[in-house]
Amino acid sequence: MTRVLLLGGTTEASALARALAAANVDAVFSYAGRTASPLPQPLPQRLGGFGGADGLAAYLTAEAFTHVVDATHPFATMISRNAVTACRAARVPLIAMERAPWTPGPDDHWLHVPDVETAVAALPAAPARIFLAIGKQSLAPFAARPEHHYLLRLVDPPTAPLPLKDASIVIARGPFAADSDRALMKANGITHIVAKNSGGAGAEAKLIAARALGLPVILIDRPAMPGRAVMSGVAEVMGWLGHPVTPAERGV
Ligand code: NAP
Repeated sequence: MTRVLLLGGTTEASALARALAAANVDAVFSYAGRTASPLPQPLPQRLGGFGGADGLAAYLTAEAFTHVVDATHPFATMISRNAVTACRAARVPLIAMERAPWTPGPDDHWLHVPDVETAVAALPAAPARIFLAIGKQSLAPFAARPEHHYLLRLVDPPTAPLPLKDASIVIARGPFAADSDRALMKANGITHIVAKNSGGAGAEAKLIAARALGLPVILIDRPAMPGRAVMSGVAEVMGWLGHPVTPAERGV
């Protein structure tokens, strides 16, 4: 019997949850619990950390999971590393569902940087208005550049003071549309965008909007994640789980 642990928190994880539920696969959807009201899923849900790789390995064994799908965000490195270690220890096969990184077109003005610190160093010298579209967890390093105004887009209103003095906040949850991202950038007089190279359709809106407005983007490369097999889409993962989706289910 197949029993799947789906590590979620992304649009792609929600799409896989729908396919698993439609195929009546025994599966549990796991959220880190970072947002105040995570989207309900059509699968049994659990919330919160496992207590590191050891905790995850113990959970996999105790709950008799036969497969793990890591569909977490490409920048969620801790849980993904833990999944590799835990699955190895518990002898449970692991697959990562990973979306392709974005690549620039001829009209894009992207500067690729390896990490957040380099993104901070790459900000312009003169005061600018920066759309800092990187979530809430990596804001602190930007405090080193207080001459800039920062526009932040967060899922929940902050519960603690922000590390950035000159910041405005938009509360919104993706997926986003290019038209509204363009309007948001224009209304806020944005001159530069800082983003993570997450890949995927819902978060790409800001890059399409930046292209339309001719704005430069500082794009943080995704961290390397060795030691795991990777698949790119729901159909591929469902096949790996032994539940291939029919062409009709795929909308073909
Ligand atoms: P992280 O740094 O890789 O993980 C930190 C800890 O959070 C993990 O060690 C684990 O705790 C717990 N955790 C993370 N994802 C979990 C999951 N799906 N189920 C149960 N526990 C989980 O992760 P993060 O960057 O804080 O991201 C947290 C969640 O937000 C992820 O699920 C990710 O998909 C989503 N997300 C992240 C980003 C981003 O830019 N990082 C963007 C969008 C969405 P224990 O060690 O106690 O098990």
